[in-house]
Amino acid sequence: MSEKLSDPIIERVEARVYTVPTDEPEADGTITWDSTTMVLVQAYSGSSVGIGWTYGAAECGAVVQNTLAPLVVGQSALDLGGRFDAMVKAVRNSGRQGAIGYAISAVDIALWDLKARLLDLPLHRLLGAVRDTVPVYGSGGFTTYSEARLAEQLGGWAHGQQIPRVKIKIGESWGTNPTRDLARLRQARHIIGDDVELFADANGGYTRKQAIRIAHRAADVNLHWFEEPVSSDDLAGLREVRDAVDADVTAGEYGFDLTYFRRMCDAHAVDCLQVDASRCGGITEWLRAAAVAASHGLEISGHCGPHLHVHVAAATPNLRHLEWFHDHVRIETIFFDGTLDPSGGVLRPREEPGNGLTLREADAAEFRIA
Ligand SMILES: [Mg+2]
Repeated sequence: MSEKLSDPIIERVEARVYTVPTDEPEADGTITWDSTTMVLVQAYSGSSVGIGWTYGAAECGAVVQNTLAPLVVGQSALDLGGRFDAMVKAVRNSGRQGAIGYAISAVDIALWDLKARLLDLPLHRLLGAVRDTVPVYGSGGFTTYSEARLAEQLGGWAHGQQIPRVKIKIGESWGTNPTRDLARLRQARHIIGDDVELFADANGGYTRKQAIRIAHRAADVNLHWFEEPVSSDDLAGLREVRDAVDADVTAGEYGFDLTYFRRMCDAHAVDCLQVDASRCGGITEWLRAAAVAASHGLEISGHCGPHLHVHVAAATPNLRHLEWFHDHVRIETIFFDGTLDPSGGVLRPREEPGNGLTLREADAAEFRIA
């Protein structure tokens, strides 16, 4: 190892768990929820503190404290490849999919923020920026929303903030209400006008032929992006839908390692690969997933958690955009100083060291559960 005795050392890693109620009941095609749990990781070295997080089960916090922290504490805060490798190898028998992978992701994101702060560099500069601004799309449009609420949210993004692309949820109740899905797509198109791109996410709620029929019946709304029309586990089904519809078919938000992404790309299942750094293995694995996609001629789009993605997105050559997701924007705005403005449809990464965010301890405290 090239690590030097003079390297800054990771002295302490802590996890906290917060549960934040949504502003109203929410649902997509296949699940309903009324709160979101965030597992926040803080990594300490000297007077610097790196921040990372994931939106996952509260159990991620125990994985960080009991399994991952002992692997990285006392080690160099600079050689993050080594830290990532040690975490992945240590969980072989427990399995990387699910909460353990989410926990690894949050630690990796915190360590990258810590390293950037130690080196006094904005994180996107440490990673090697390829762009000054990062495109986003507004994302929400839950199936539980009233017409008035949908109009307020989509209109706010499209006309208020001038974000040129927005996404709604369809596939209501496992695809059992296609009439309302189609009505909501038309309503969304009416709200945003002709010049804003319309995206829809079925969260795997349809069967293959059902998804194709929906897309054909919705031809008049000019759907640009059709996310998880069928389960993301059904690679042949994604391919079948992709071959039959005009919209880009997309998936990948549950990807937890490079093999997952390679299989999805090899199956020609998607037009754009979705990757979530808070699930797939943090910033370290995001960059490698982007390389897998690039080798298949594909762009990637960041799933959720816009403030944990924006710096690495600025350093990803084949990035399409990030998801400006209602629930996570709301939480990140409550929890951090330094959050970004999506006006014009782009985020500009902050130039302060690290991710440029500061935890608002007092505001977060009321939501803490562990
Ligand atoms: Mg989705």
